[in-house]
Amino acid sequence: MTTLNSISGSAGSLSQFDPQALPVNAAQAIVLQWVTPLAQSERVPLREALARVLAADVISPIDVPAHDNSAMDGYAFDGAALLADATDAAAARTPERATLTLNVAGKAFAGHPYTGAIAPGACVRIMTGAPMPAGCDTVVPQERVERGGNAAGEGSAAEPVGETPPESITFRADAVTPGANRRRKGEDLARGNAALRAGRVLRASDIGLMASLGLVDVAVKRRLRVAFFSTGDELRSPGEPLDAGCIYDSNRYTLGAMLQRLNVEPIDLGVVRDDPESLAATLKSAAESADVVLTSGGVSVGEADFTRTQLQALGDVSFWGLAMRPGRPLAFGRIWSGGHPGAGRAALLFGLPGNPVATMVAFYQIVRPALIAMSGATPQPVPLIPARCDAPLRKRPGRTEFQRGIAERDAQGQWHVAPTGSQSSGALSTMSEANCFIVLAHESGDLDPGDAVDIMLFDGLV
Ligand code: AMP
Ligand code: MG
Repeated sequence: MTTLNSISGSAGSLSQFDPQALPVNAAQAIVLQWVTPLAQSERVPLREALARVLAADVISPIDVPAHDNSAMDGYAFDGAALLADATDAAAARTPERATLTLNVAGKAFAGHPYTGAIAPGACVRIMTGAPMPAGCDTVVPQERVERGGNAAGEGSAAEPVGETPPESITFRADAVTPGANRRRKGEDLARGNAALRAGRVLRASDIGLMASLGLVDVAVKRRLRVAFFSTGDELRSPGEPLDAGCIYDSNRYTLGAMLQRLNVEPIDLGVVRDDPESLAATLKSAAESADVVLTSGGVSVGEADFTRTQLQALGDVSFWGLAMRPGRPLAFGRIWSGGHPGAGRAALLFGLPGNPVATMVAFYQIVRPALIAMSGATPQPVPLIPARCDAPLRKRPGRTEFQRGIAERDAQGQWHVAPTGSQSSGALSTMSEANCFIVLAHESGDLDPGDAVDIMLFDGLV
């Protein structure tokens, strides 16, 4: 993967791009070139596997379902009886021959199969999920039959489990076709086939699927370790008094929460003051313990020089200006625990901008895809939904914008979106108010009301 030997050189190597106006997709591509998926895996019990990344294909050890079974509550019989009737076309037209009467030989409930032999002209009372008795391939639903010879059950369509079945049933021959209402053995999953592929981020249905195969645990990638800290003399942590000219550190909380959503192992390294020694010490210990290090603040032009100097000294870091709003400044590279390139453990570094919304947008657009790939997961693009923008939007061509929007679907199924109030990169409240990003393409200019835009919804179902 890492055939390039320097990140600081790689933006320039894509020579059609200016590192100070790097398009979002180019930045994403460069970052992914430096990502090596985790190799280590571990076994975890099914109950702990949600949102973990599958390390190997799951091969089904059994057929699911394990036997042919009934899809309905009704009566199982040999469907050939229907064919015998149907071929006798003239007879089938008469009311008597258009019906079938079968003797009920016994019953099959889920977990309690019928094991006897079925004589011609007989059937078995069967409930949903019960194995099909030998010689039966068709189920007539109980609603379709007249019950005979058992006064207690007669006329009742819904016979409770355990009640004595009728002696016989009669139903129209066209009520079912041969093979109807039978689920085939292995229809859901056949033994020896891959039920789930490596690289999948496990969802609730996957956990259930593995349980249906009788598996008790599963091989998943180990969790990615992601260290993060905030930089700035003005930052105070919640719980501390807010001194004059200071602000509370929110980025560490936002980052911690976004990392929690990705199910990585977060390592919170606190707030680091704007001084070279603290910064160097924290970066080195972060590289020692984590696979990826995220910082926020200190990467914009005009910041105290030592932030850049420290990052450059400890590693191989390039400073980009992304053609993106919010979230222009970004440092990307590798740092080493030994304090210089090649010394000790290496970690991937993302230096995110300090403004709270810029931190989030840079995380979602640049860091998130990298963390997913590094976790060993198969990347899944986040869906974009076409929408009409109900308000005019100011947009400068030459950068991708992620405006905060409120989207809803009208009665005709058309999505509409309007921007939240302030689009300031410091206004975290509008991020909470929004339910989507309005994604304005790199080339796009100003938009009029009614123009088409893409939206990226914040919430998904599973
Ligand atoms: P910087 O890039 O360090 O100049 O930060 C840009 C802006 O973001 C400044 O107004 C900072 O005060 C603010 N900022 C930086 N870090 C944080 C943080 N962790 N939480 C909230 N605001 C921050
Ligand atoms: Mg700062």
